[in-house]
Amino acid sequence: MGHHEVIVVGRGLIGSAAARHLADAGHDVALVGPIEPDDYRGAGPFSSHFDQGRVTRIAAFEEPWGTWAKASIERYAEIARRSGINFHDPVGLVVLAEDAERAMSIGAGLGADVSMLTTRELRNRTGIASVVPEHRIAWEGAPAGVINPRALRDAQVICASQAGATAIDDVVVGVQRDEQPVSLTLRSGHTMTADRVLFCTGAYGAEVLGIDIPLQKRLRTIILAELDPGPELPTLIIDNPPHPALEEAYWVPPVVWPNGKHLIKIGGDSIPMNVGTDADQIDDWFRSGASEQEGDALFELLETLLPDRLVTRYAHKPCVVSYTPAGVPHITSVSDSISVAFGGCGAGAKSSDELGRLAMVELLSS
Ligand SMILES: Cc1cc2nc3c(=O)[nH]c(=O)nc-3n(C[C@H](O)[C@H](O)[C@H](O)COP(=O)(O)OP(=O)(O)OC[C@H]3O[C@@H](n4cnc5c(N)ncnc54)[C@H](O)[C@@H]3O)c2cc1C
Repeated sequence: MGHHEVIVVGRGLIGSAAARHLADAGHDVALVGPIEPDDYRGAGPFSSHFDQGRVTRIAAFEEPWGTWAKASIERYAEIARRSGINFHDPVGLVVLAEDAERAMSIGAGLGADVSMLTTRELRNRTGIASVVPEHRIAWEGAPAGVINPRALRDAQVICASQAGATAIDDVVVGVQRDEQPVSLTLRSGHTMTADRVLFCTGAYGAEVLGIDIPLQKRLRTIILAELDPGPELPTLIIDNPPHPALEEAYWVPPVVWPNGKHLIKIGGDSIPMNVGTDADQIDDWFRSGASEQEGDALFELLETLLPDRLVTRYAHKPCVVSYTPAGVPHITSVSDSISVAFGGCGAGAKSSDELGRLAMVELLSS
């Protein structure tokens, strides 16, 4: 396994992006993380990106998120060209929220194609029913839409490998962080060393480092459903949805899943929120198959929002979303040779390329 100038731990969206940026900049980099398991019965660590769709958009409720998304989106085509993997479908976005105009004005300031719609315009164009009178309805056109997070991860790893990075299918189980070079113990029993190490470990945070960096791990459920034919749907974000058991929700319109089915996905934050404390609880949540009850609420919301469509429940699945207290990712150095980049706050996928680049800058400047 040997020695590398840089080791990136975590083959997720931020880690694979950071590895690509580091390799492109000429650094000797190894990317260490498990490949996605076929099912969730085995050992973790699992991830926040084992999925077929993520909302991408420039409009944002806080300006930095818009800036990071715009920078990332501008590089999607280049990543797709280099890797040969297309992961972006610009089908547009609808936001239903009392303060939807704020997100759109941040988007407009960054050059996004945004406009406001009436309830009737939304229903005529998409079939979506806006049933909360306080909601304002905002539309963002292309490049807003869907990205496939698995495909983006694979594209980044291919680009990183083309630029000389080594991808290793393993899990870091121990860190001798006071040593120089830093020494990592892997689940396989091997050890690796590096001058600098970047931990992009998603919801697993800094646990393997033995450092307490606060990260709220929301154990969530998603629902997959089939729709009868109808108008093409955009991605959707809805604040305070019309369901007492849900605080916010989003959907990704039907995309092709690995089993060949076209499925819409809906997810969100439930009331009360289910929060995990450590790696074992995250792993148990993935093995548990998620919450039937939370799935019921999400399915009812889907039926409410699409009253003219036949919606057939297909499956529910577990996922984990990690939030920092500040609402932006932790991209910080914990020593001269170790940095961390995690805490995507439910919004990190679309912006992961820029977050990976910022993580590289932080690591190299520490
Ligand atoms: C259901 C759901 C919907 C979402 N929707 C959106 C959306 O619409 N738009 C959006 O922009 N974002 C969305 N997000 C958020 C987005 O997916 C995350 O912010 C993003 O995946 C975070 O990337 P990451 O690299 O930090 O973590 P991950 O993608 O989870 O990657 C972390 C990786 O680290 C690995 N790892 C952990 N510990 C170790 C270890 N000790 N050794 C080696 N490897 C390790 C894990 O296996 C994992 O592969 C959503 C998240 C979820 C769960």
